[in-house]
Amino acid sequence: MRTTLIAGNWKMNCLGGEAAELAAAVVRGCGELSGREVVLAPPYTALAAVRDAVAGSAVALGAQDMYWEPAGAFTGEVSGPMLVDAGCSHVIVGHSERRQYFGSTDYTVAKKTAAALAAGLTPIVCVGETLEQREAGNTMQVIDHQVAGSLCEVAQGDFSSVVIAYEPVWAIGTGRTATPEQAEEVHGHIRTVLAGVTGAGERAAQVRILYGGSVKPDNVDALMACPNIDGALVGGASLKAEDFLRIVRYEESQQ
Ligand code: PEP
Repeated sequence: MRTTLIAGNWKMNCLGGEAAELAAAVVRGCGELSGREVVLAPPYTALAAVRDAVAGSAVALGAQDMYWEPAGAFTGEVSGPMLVDAGCSHVIVGHSERRQYFGSTDYTVAKKTAAALAAGLTPIVCVGETLEQREAGNTMQVIDHQVAGSLCEVAQGDFSSVVIAYEPVWAIGTGRTATPEQAEEVHGHIRTVLAGVTGAGERAAQVRILYGGSVKPDNVDALMACPNIDGALVGGASLKAEDFLRIVRYEESQQ
């Protein structure tokens, strides 16, 4: 009932030509893929190149962040309507690198999430604990705050359009992946929190929860076999078409 979503976060990588090539290779490799959604999130400067490369295919375009006002005197920012105009259907908000280096907080993530929905974009809302928070036994408490805080402006009827990405900060770009058990424990917990936030278990059951944090060809099958893991947000491995395509084509037989 929840369609798998595999999203590639290219971060601050790829000039236009490289982006077009990588996107074209992903499109070719996805072929007649059905029952799985694939999203590529290049940097803003490569959105047009990737939009052209994925045109007419099932691969969708996403951005890595946005601002919540639709237009105005906000130098350096990009709005939801601008992303739609650029061909995006998805936008990542609250990525831990934005939280860590660029001042994103649950408050700003909540405003971006609501603005994304208002613009007709699917927000991929990232949450995740740091290593210190996990080691102090505070993982669930941190997740509770981030999920409730980041989704507090979402109208009840809009929850089915929201995607959450659980990305433990200690697993991002480190090669250290959460075990399927660790990931499933948090995903199951998020589902329970969502039942409270959305006011209904059925609404919570519709929300896709992606796992992110060093997802690679050799660990994706075990992660995707977990009942509450509905896809992956992939950083480093999304920059190599072969690796990303292996992740997109994770082995269903293990489910
Ligand atoms: C990410 O940036 O969202 C991410 C999960 O990165 P990586 O796959 O490289 O850990």
